Amino acid sequence: IDYKSFNNYRFYDQEMADKINRKITIEGLLRTINYDDEFAMFFQPQFSIDGSELIGMESLLRWNSPVLGNVSPGEFIAIAEESNAILKIVQWTIKKSSEQIKEWNLKYNKNYRISINISPKYLKNYDFLSEVKYFVDVKHINPVWLDFEMTEMSVMQAGESICNLFDKLHNMGINISIDDFGTGYSSLSYIKNFNIDKIKISKELVDNIVTDKNEYMIVNAIIMMSKGLKLETIAEGVEEKEQKDILLELGCDQIQGYYYGRPVNAQDFENMYLINRV
Ligand code: C2E
Ligand code: CA
Ligand code: CA
Repeated sequence: IDYKSFNNYRFYDQEMADKINRKITIEGLLRTINYDDEFAMFFQPQFSIDGSELIGMESLLRWNSPVLGNVSPGEFIAIAEESNAILKIVQWTIKKSSEQIKEWNLKYNKNYRISINISPKYLKNYDFLSEVKYFVDVKHINPVWLDFEMTEMSVMQAGESICNLFDKLHNMGINISIDDFGTGYSSLSYIKNFNIDKIKISKELVDNIVTDKNEYMIVNAIIMMSKGLKLETIAEGVEEKEQKDILLELGCDQIQGYYYGRPVNAQDFENMYLINRV
């Protein structure tokens, strides 16, 4: 017997088993926990490119589990997407985010927009339009306070049926943004068939914009084409001044990233970005 590979095999086996167990645990917890107890919405500011004006914020989910500790959304959203948990999660985030933006905009007399992440599965399984109309009509959420982020992939998967939905949301005054643009097919010529408002240039591209000439050229092209199509642009994952300077020079409209601010809880967001702003 080759004990070495035997042991390696056992090790691999154990790692796989741990991974599967964790996934099953997360799935089970997402089915049973009370979201109000364990989930929190964090908010990351979105600024005009020169940092002078707050445009709004993206709402980002945080899960502090008594069983597992902090679980990153990257991990549990992916697991939730495979089950129906994602439907409940998106519903919870729309509710929390719209309540929060209403509170802030009324309190500070502003029209900040809140960007909410919407999963493709949610679009397929729910009467999304009725859900949104409920918040607008019953909860008195001004549609111009809302921005829905969907990845290019999810828009493509949903196909033509989503065209009609986007038209209706757009006509209500709601913004539609394409998240992580530049990582998938990145077909602006295709995406322009849909009534969208904003292109969110992915962190993957922004990461290398200073050092990689090709990525710089790609971002330049995305911004130029977006302008031609009258689409707004926002760059995400901007961490350094050099990146911000290049994006400013290329004519990008807005910025979101650690350079201007990390995601923080509601109280901190209010203290850092809303109080004492004119
Ligand atoms: P995303 O929608 O692309 O969100 C942006 C992610 O980049 C966030 O990670 C944010 O914290 C991070 N980020 C922002 N600026 C910077 C930066 O300058 N540097 C670095 N290194 N990272 C930056 P987060 O919060 O861990 O979320 C990861 C993903 O999980 C999100 O990617 C989104 O796909 C999903 N997600 C998060 N919250 C929600 C939610 O409420 N609903 C849904 N459906 N998905 C969510
Ligand atoms: Ca997003
Ligand atoms: Ca993104």
